[in-house]
Amino acid sequence: MNIHEYQAKQVLKGFGAPVASGVAITAASEAEAAAKQLPGPLYVVKSQIHAGGRGKGKFKELGADAKGGVRLAKSVEEAVSHAKEMLGNTLVTAQTGDAGRQVNRLYIEDGADIDRELYLSLLVDRSVGKVAFVVSTEGGMDIEAVAHDTPEKIITVAIDPVAGVTEADVATITKAYGLSGAAAEDGKSLFPALYKAFVEKDMALLEVNPLIVMKDGHLRVLDAKCSFDGNALFRHDDMKALRDETEEDAKEIEASKWDLAYVALDGNIGCMVNGAGLAMATMDIIKLYGKEPANFCDVGGGASKEKVAAAFKIITADPRVQGILVNIFGGIMKCDVIAEGVVAAVKEVGLKVPLVVRLEGTNVELGKKILNESGLAITAADDLDDAAKKIVSAIG
Ligand code: GDP
Ligand code: MG
Repeated sequence: MNIHEYQAKQVLKGFGAPVASGVAITAASEAEAAAKQLPGPLYVVKSQIHAGGRGKGKFKELGADAKGGVRLAKSVEEAVSHAKEMLGNTLVTAQTGDAGRQVNRLYIEDGADIDRELYLSLLVDRSVGKVAFVVSTEGGMDIEAVAHDTPEKIITVAIDPVAGVTEADVATITKAYGLSGAAAEDGKSLFPALYKAFVEKDMALLEVNPLIVMKDGHLRVLDAKCSFDGNALFRHDDMKALRDETEEDAKEIEASKWDLAYVALDGNIGCMVNGAGLAMATMDIIKLYGKEPANFCDVGGGASKEKVAAAFKIITADPRVQGILVNIFGGIMKCDVIAEGVVAAVKEVGLKVPLVVRLEGTNVELGKKILNESGLAITAADDLDDAAKKIVSAIG
C-alpha cells in the first residue's frame, strides 16, 4: 500500500524527521488560506498522486510549455494561481504511463533554499537479509539515470537487525554524502529515525528523494515516498487509515476485498491460477509461446465458489484481456469449486473472449464434468504446455 507524500511526511515527522510545514488542499478555493498559514516568501505547490517524477511531469490539458507537477511560487498569489491551474488536471510522469493521473489534491509547502540534493532510501535487501540504506550524492529527479549510467555513485549500507543503526553506520552514510557541520549533526538523529520508522511501521520502501542540505546547513526531507508491506497492515490501523483508494487500480481494490492476489500486467492474456509458483510458471510459458500476460489472479487454496467467481470477473473486467487461461492444480483447492465459480461468473458477465481451462488434481473429473455440461465455449487443455499453446493460438 502506498500513501501520499504529505502523509508520508506526517508519519516521518512523528519519528522526528525534519520536514517543511505544509497544508494539503483539495479545492483551489482553499489555496489562499493554506499558503497564508506558511511563513513564505517561497512556497512549493506539489501534486499529490501516487507516482513519482512529478517535477518533470506535464499536464495533459496544459500546453507543452506549462510548468510541471511540482512548482515554486514567490508569493501567495502565485501559489494560488498554480493551484488553480493544477487541480483537476491530468499529470503525466515517467511513472504514470500515458494515461496520467488526475491531480485531486495538492500540498502547499514552505519552500526551502537548497544547497545540495541527495538520495536516500530504505528497503529490504534480500541478498543480505537486512534492511538497507541506499544512498547517493546524486539526488533529485534522475536517480534512475544515475543507477543506469554511474552505479558506483550509489552506496548500500545494510543494517544489522539486532544492533540497529550504529554510530559506524551513521559515519558511513555521512561520509558517502560528504556531510559536515550542522548537516552531519542532523544525520546522527535523522538516519536512525528513518530506520525506526521503516521497521516500526513495517514499510516495504521508504524513499527520500531528495534529502536536501539547505543553505543554512541543515538537512530536510524534501520528498517522501512510503510503501507498506500489505501482509503487515493488519497491525497498523493508523497507516491503513491513510489509504487513498482513488489512487489505486479499481480491480486491485476489488481483489483485496476478496483477499485475492491480483496483479495487473501489460499483455493480453488474463490468468487465473492458484499459488504463486504456478502463477510464475503460467506467465513464463505464455511468454515462451510469444505472448504476454495481461494480469494474474491467484485464488489461493480453499477458495469458495463466490471467490472464484469474483476472481474471474476481475480478470475479464480488464479491456486488454483478449483471452483467458485458467490453470489450476487442485490440492487444497478443489477443481469442482473452480469450475462452479467460473460457470457462475460467466453466466453473470458473459464470455466475450476465448477461455482455455487446464484443471488437474483434487476432484478433477467432477470439475471437467461441470464445465462440459455448462454449455460454455471452453477449450479444455491436458497440461500446462498444451494450455499455453491453445490460448496463444486462440488469440492469434
Ligand atoms: P518528484 O519530481 O515527484 O520527485 O517531486 P519532488 O518533491 O522530489 O520535487 C521535485 C524537485 O522540485 C526537487 O528535486 C527540487 O529540485 C524541487 N523542489 C521541491 N521542493 C522544493 C523547495 O522547497 N525548494 C526548492 N528550491 N526546490 C524544491
Ligand atoms: Mg522526488
